[in-house]
Amino acid sequence: MSCPICGEETARSYRPFCSRRCADLDLAKWLNGAYAAPSRDPEDIEKALEETERSRSSGEKHSQFRH
Ligand SMILES: [Zn+2]
Repeated sequence: MSCPICGEETARSYRPFCSRRCADLDLAKWLNGAYAAPSRDPEDIEKALEETERSRSSGEKHSQFRH
């Protein structure tokens, strides 16, 4: 089985995705489709993910996110 987002091999702890990032991307894609016009543009998905991260991390310290 491969990650539906990027096609990499699935990680057991993030099934059916390969990483938390792809799980978040899928969630963002979902949210994006739910409140806006569906888009297949990866950049739009990235933007939606950023919005998700921003709203989730507001009031929290950014130190938990390593870049
Ligand atoms: Zn992936």
